[in-house]
Amino acid sequence: MKKRIYLTAIAAIAAVVLNISPVLAGQVFHPVETLELKIIYPENISDINETFWQDITKKIEEKITAASIKLPPKPGVKHKQSSYDRLTVHVDILKIKDQGKMVFHSAAFFSKKMAVQRIILWKNQAPLKITETKTARTEIEKTILSQVDSFLKVCIAGPAVITTKNTTDTTAKAKFVSSKNSKVFHKIDCSSTKRIKSANKIPYNSRTQAIEDGKRPCKRCKP
Ligand SMILES: [Zn+2]
Repeated sequence: MKKRIYLTAIAAIAAVVLNISPVLAGQVFHPVETLELKIIYPENISDINETFWQDITKKIEEKITAASIKLPPKPGVKHKQSSYDRLTVHVDILKIKDQGKMVFHSAAFFSKKMAVQRIILWKNQAPLKITETKTARTEIEKTILSQVDSFLKVCIAGPAVITTKNTTDTTAKAKFVSSKNSKVFHKIDCSSTKRIKSANKIPYNSRTQAIEDGKRPCKRCKP
């Protein structure tokens, strides 16, 4: 199978952009409908073979689909001018000689194919990690999948959060709300809702939306 390695300009551009999430930056974040996935990885690591990367790709694609985001009709087909939003995962791995250890680094970049003023670049870099070679596959997989999870959360929360310039009022139209720092969601008039700082509020329009985002109903207000 042909390796999915694409050195895109995205990585280069994103590398110079500060680590600002689109939500925090207060930019307009449009829903992601179709997402193209690119994984850039080293080919010459003997303990981490092609099957590993195919497996990771499949797991990421499953997460994307589970977040109600479509994949391009032929994922992995190279387009010169892709019309899709793109998630690029860039992994670097180095073996430490004679120590049975590996150093790895993983960064995820998001690029949105829209009018220039609406382009959002998102970057999530995991810190450099050192791992035993025998547990490297598990560690690398865990790191990458958690980056994809946090990216997909931004995708889901994004459209609802950024609807108005009045940042104190972003949740006014939502029926349910949670905090970035909590696993619980509430009715909009729950006393706990009032204690969530505006900047941390995640609005939801339905129970299903909140539950799919990994939240559980508050025991007090029973949303
Ligand atoms: Zn509540």
